[in-house]
Amino acid sequence: MGIRIGILGYGNLGRGVECAIRQNPDMELKAVFTRRDPESVNILTESAKVCHVNEAREWAEKLDVMILCGGSATDLPVQTPEYAGLFNVVDSFDTHARIPEHFANVDAAARKGGKVAIISVGWDPGLFSLNRMYANAILPEGKDYTFWGRGVSQGHSDAIRRIAGVKDAKQYTIPVEDALKAVRAGENPDLTTRQKHTRECFVVAEEGADKAAIEKEIKTMPNYFAEYDTTVHFITAEELRRDHSGIPHGGLVLRSGVTGWEKENKHLIEYNLKLDSNPEFTASVIVAYARAAYRLSTEGAKGCRTVFDIAPAYLSAKSGEELRASML
Ligand code: NDP
Repeated sequence: MGIRIGILGYGNLGRGVECAIRQNPDMELKAVFTRRDPESVNILTESAKVCHVNEAREWAEKLDVMILCGGSATDLPVQTPEYAGLFNVVDSFDTHARIPEHFANVDAAARKGGKVAIISVGWDPGLFSLNRMYANAILPEGKDYTFWGRGVSQGHSDAIRRIAGVKDAKQYTIPVEDALKAVRAGENPDLTTRQKHTRECFVVAEEGADKAAIEKEIKTMPNYFAEYDTTVHFITAEELRRDHSGIPHGGLVLRSGVTGWEKENKHLIEYNLKLDSNPEFTASVIVAYARAAYRLSTEGAKGCRTVFDIAPAYLSAKSGEELRASML
């Protein structure tokens, strides 16, 4: 029998997890839990059930790991501590500033229930965090850079959609090529927000809306756009559907450092992701960490972990022997 998985919350990420499980023969999706009417949620796996979240408790002995796919803003701060006492859980909590608080809440619940929780799994936080940490441990003298994009920022797209006269919108975050070049050349530049990223917006306006006013409101929006060079393109609903329906993302983590007695040698570490689908890739990372949560739990571990605490071999379906023979 494979590792028995439940998915709680069935949005983009939930569906991505369902797809990822299909690519991992040691895992089996048993049930999807939703706050909506289960009849209204159509999943792809015929052998799995769709249940209301209120029934989740009854599954405590029937699942090895519950993957939490709610949103970071309001769902996960409540859901992860709630379910960490009942199941081994993995979440993708991405509000960086609130991770310490989330960790403490989840750790207390998981310890009480004797379960393992792994939080903030994905690519940022997640794989990018690991790369920042490895690079800092290896090159203690150096400078860190993280660039995001080219990719869709859900939060910025939502902010544009809230403007009066806007029907729909997609926003792309794009790294500035010259800044990247300078970092790759080992120049260790000090970069302002504006020098690192630009923002490109594709907006569908309502009929008769004042486009100049919308453009001005976008470009001057504090925290979201005012600190960036922003371009606004007005397009039709059809063009938005045709050219901008995907959820691509990605980015780069770089550390530029020096070694040698006189610090005479430069080194550049670069980790680069180009993702056609942000949620599907994030889901694939989460599923590998679900395997780790299960294994840790079978060894008697309890409490909350982050990607920093999980040894790499726990992620792989291969045995230690196979890994040493094929990948070391
Ligand atoms: P969604 O908005 O698609 O889904 C969030 C929740 O909303 C779902 O769990 C679902 O809960 C509910 N929902 C989804 N669709 C509907 C619908 N049609 N009607 C009503 N409710 C719906 O968010 P994503 O799945 O795209 O992302 C989830 C989180 O993943 C994000 O908040 C983000 O923080 C995180 N993330 C983390 C990354 C990382 O690198 N760490 C990268 C990318 C994302 P229910 O089924 O209970 O209704």
